[in-house]
This record gives sequence, structure tokens and C-alpha cells, in this order.
Amino acid sequence: MSYVICHYSEIGLKGKNRRFFEEKLVENIKRSLKPHFFEFVKRISGRVIIKLTGLTKEGIKKQKEIKASLKNVFGIVNFAFAENSKQEIESIEKKTLELLRGKKFKTFKISTQRSKKEFPLTSQEINEKVGEYILKKAKGKRQKLKVDLENPDITCFIEIVEKYAFLYLEKFKGVGGLPMTVSGKAIVLLSGGIDSPVATFYLMKRGVKAIFVHFYAHPYTNKASIQKVTQIVEVLNKFQFISKIYLVPFAKIQKEILLKTPAKLRVILYRRMMFRITEKIAQREEAQAMITGESVGQVASQTLENIKVIEEVVNLPIFRPLIGQDKEEIINKAQEIGTYDISILPYQDCCSRFLPKHPATKAQLGELKKAEKKLKIEKLVKEAIKTTELKIIK
Ligand code: ATP
Ligand code: MG
Repeated sequence: MSYVICHYSEIGLKGKNRRFFEEKLVENIKRSLKPHFFEFVKRISGRVIIKLTGLTKEGIKKQKEIKASLKNVFGIVNFAFAENSKQEIESIEKKTLELLRGKKFKTFKISTQRSKKEFPLTSQEINEKVGEYILKKAKGKRQKLKVDLENPDITCFIEIVEKYAFLYLEKFKGVGGLPMTVSGKAIVLLSGGIDSPVATFYLMKRGVKAIFVHFYAHPYTNKASIQKVTQIVEVLNKFQFISKIYLVPFAKIQKEILLKTPAKLRVILYRRMMFRITEKIAQREEAQAMITGESVGQVASQTLENIKVIEEVVNLPIFRPLIGQDKEEIINKAQEIGTYDISILPYQDCCSRFLPKHPATKAQLGELKKAEKKLKIEKLVKEAIKTTELKIIK
């Protein structure tokens, strides 16, 4: 196969932004493939096409690798490895026959899409002509070969577009969504657990570039959580190639909270500090939002009441794409993305250490503010930012 045709859907609806979206998609496809795998990637009407470099002995292996890469490119709804034929019905017929050679099937269908309206035959006429040709050629050899429009064993797709006539037998499902980075940047609070990487996926899918923040409690805990989030980001990089992660030492803040505030408010106070620090990092990065893996009622800090008093400390919008998902749904998605196996490795979460027996499920803003009077909030935030480390993960 010498081409790949990539189809997208929603980008086509984006009016004036369409050009920008399509160019991003082209750029992202190029980045996702090894440079020596393709001659060019370009937009043609309503599609992006990839011209592959000449097939060698390792063709099949290469095709597998290309397929795996394209499955992670947001914006692609489906794609197909295709042959190109001259834009003449005789050539199309012959190429179709070649394509079907060696395939086992009793029924078939030709499905043509014609974007180039100057082509002398309509889609329906092409279907009929090519179908008849295949039947004629099969006479004597394949006794029972039949056209079946409802449920064929095999479908041959033909796309007449610009100067091309593409032919292919199989479409692969893409991940959908919008091209990476068309929607701006957001900061993800990445914990090392199951949920936050899944939350990241959903926003990335809508074209958001994720920048990560992780809070760790060393020396109260070991540094395994850092290794873990690094590994998780490496997996998520299959969608955005390169990522920034801010590693924020949180032990000092935890110690202050532990010593000076009521135990039942601890978790909420930790969270308020995390949000304040994250907002500062967002400002530095010019990110427009924050993302968490919260889901209603999963833990004490995720009741509606507590979510409200936690987010009260920041102005940025907070996105919680998992808010209405059950754990099982989240786990399934984590497995699909490939983060699950890393997320379930044992580690010491900074907030599950020193967890009170009875955390408040309906903390009042008044009592939180009173407790925070005992803390030097601004100073603690500043210090945390100052000691934060930025790591680039490729
Ligand atoms: P997760 O599986 O993502 O850890 P969780 O169900 O364990 O979530 P919590 O521990 O209450 O829930 O965390 C809720 C959200 O807060 C997480 O999804 C994450 O976005 C953020 N968060 C929690 N701990 C950290 C941390 N150490 N660093 C950065 N973000 C964190
Ligand atoms: Mg957690």
C-alpha cells in the first residue's frame, strides 16, 4: 500500500478555524511517524493523506507500527491503507481486481465516494461498473461470487478525490477528538493513582495540551510516586509527544497542617494548598484551566460540599471529566490508555499518609478559614513554588 488516507469529522465543522485545525492535524501526524516512513503528509479536500515511502521486506512490520501510531493521533476518526490508481475507470477496475486477489469471500460490495464532481461517472455508476467487472472476471473461477449490499464479506472502498483514485478494503478506527493543542493549555494535578491520567486523556482528546503538577511528600514518603508519575507521563506522551511536569515538595506544608489544624480538616486543607500552588504554576504557564481526576463521592474530599470549599481558593476553571463516572468505567479507560498497570503499583500517596480516621465530609468554609489563620499561607505557597522542580519528559 502506498498511501494512508485519514478521515476526520468535527474539524470539518470548524468554519474559519478549519484550516488551522487541519494544519495541526498534518503536523501531529508527521510527528507521530518515523520520518523515513513517509514522503509527505498533506491536506487534500476533506482528508489528510500520507504518501508512504517504498515498501521493503519489512513492509508489514512497518504498516503495524504506522497503524499503532495513527491510533493515538487525536482528530483522526478512521484511516485506511490505500492504493492509488489513475483516475480512469479501466485502471480503477484493474486495481480493484488486484486488490481483491487472494482474498477469501463469497459476497462483496463496492462503495465509492466521489469528491471530484468532474469525474465522468457518478459514485453509483462506478459501483456498478467495477462490480460488474469483478463478477465478469470471476466467472468460471468463482462460481458463487455475488454482490451483497447489506452484509458483504468484503467491501472495496473507492475514493475519487482531487487527482487521486484511492482503493482500500479495510478502515481502522481512530481515537477521534480534536487535534492536539488546538484548544490551549491546562494544568493537570497528577497523583499517581488511577483517575488523574484518565482525566488527562479526556481533555487531551479535546485538543488540550496537558502540563502536569505532582505533589510529593518526601521525606515522609519515599520518592516512588515521582517515578510513578514520570512513567505515567511517558505513556501519555504517546498522545502529546513531550510533556512538562512540575514536581512540588509538599512535606513542609503537610507538616504545618498536621501540627496546627484540626485532624478532620486535614485533607481539605491539603487540597486547598495544592490548588493555590497549581494556580500559580498555571499563571506561569499561561494555562487556562486546571484538571483533576475527581469523581463525586469517591472519597471524603469529593463530596459536593467539599469540592465547593476546595475550589473556592482559586479563580481558574477546574475541569473534572470523571465527575460522573464509576470506578469501573474509569478503570476500563485506564486499561485502554495503558496507564492502569502503572497506576496500581503500590506507592505512598502524599495525602493518604496521616489520614484522619474521620475526615470531614461537609467542611464549612468558616472553620477552614479559621484553621488557615494558623498557617502562613502565602509564605508556604511561595516556598513551595521556589523549591519546585521542572522536568521535561520526552
Ligand atoms: P487519583 O486516582 O487520580 O489519585 P483518587 O481517587 O485517589 O484520584 P484523591 O486522592 O482524592 O482521589 O485525589 C483527587 C484528585 O486530586 C486526583 O485525581 C488528582 O487530580 C489530585 N491529586 C491528588 N493527589 C495529588 C498529588 N499528590 N499530586 C497532584 N495531584 C493530586
Ligand atoms: Mg489519589
